[in-house]
Amino acid sequence: MAIFNIYSITSYFVAICFYLKDKITAAFFVAFAEIFLHQIMGSYYLGFESGFSTIMMCLFFLQFTFFSKWLYRISVSLFLLFSIYGLYYFRHYLVGEYSNSQDLFFYINTFSSSVFMLIYGGLATVTSNKKLSDLTYLVYRDFLTGLFNRKYFEEKIIPNFNKDESLLIAICDIDNFKRINDTYGHDIGDIVLKSVASAIHYEMLGLNGVVARWGGEEFVVKLNVKNNQEAEYYMNVVKNSVSKQELKKYNIKPTITIGGIFIKNPCKDSFEHYFKIADQELYFGKKSGKNCVNIQAS
Ligand code: GH3
Ligand code: MG
Ligand code: MG
Repeated sequence: MAIFNIYSITSYFVAICFYLKDKITAAFFVAFAEIFLHQIMGSYYLGFESGFSTIMMCLFFLQFTFFSKWLYRISVSLFLLFSIYGLYYFRHYLVGEYSNSQDLFFYINTFSSSVFMLIYGGLATVTSNKKLSDLTYLVYRDFLTGLFNRKYFEEKIIPNFNKDESLLIAICDIDNFKRINDTYGHDIGDIVLKSVASAIHYEMLGLNGVVARWGGEEFVVKLNVKNNQEAEYYMNVVKNSVSKQELKKYNIKPTITIGGIFIKNPCKDSFEHYFKIADQELYFGKKSGKNCVNIQAS
């Protein structure tokens, strides 16, 4: 066993090296082979009762998170299971005989296997929870601006919009954005889009409002406000903040027009109804020279 331990330590060293070099498959097989052989050798020299076979249980966990195909998972599980049964069946042929050290090994092996499975299971749960939250983050984000997307607004905000005491629904639309694209190119248009988005987002953060990219160069805002004056005041803050987002290199000074509706709850109509009014206000703003704020009170 002492000689075998040299192989064990070397294996772990090699597995770690592979892992650090991002060769995960090689690291897995080296570690898998070591654990498997270790428990066979341990059982052979110290007897089945020394509990080395419980270490085999760890391999069930290890392989399950490594293989993604059920065919491999089940095949390896059966291989491990028959290995344990085989050891048990031939236990009388193993070298090890009952001694106090067998008891000690049994306790150590079962304890360390349990700790391994607990930590490994815990880590696997944490990783899968993180993956899920990363995925949820991506589903609800607009990839260009990093803001919430329309899906988020439709699924998370609209169903609850009438639960607030009173609020503002507003649409912010970049002025003459097509001209910016046509003059400077789409890439520069994207930079302008991002800087406008971050200015609106910044102002909304301070006010605890929600902003989402509705589509193209339009953003929708939901903000809790007490009255129409407050709504107008804050939307002017947003408008002024956007006009400070100058792209000096190209001498681009973006502006936005904002159309909105102040809703005093309990609101009588649907979100779609109010959104239409906000859109009309936006239209009036565009007609009357752009770079302005129009809020209607419901
Ligand atoms: P108005 O002042 O009336 O709003 O005029 P506008 O030019 O801003 O509006 P219009 O609807 O005519 O054009 C919007 C443009 O926005 C057209 C489209 O090519 C551009 N656009 C939409 N999405 C993106 C995007 O992700 N990146 C870039 N660069 N441009 C986009
Ligand atoms: Mg538009
Ligand atoms: Mg526009």
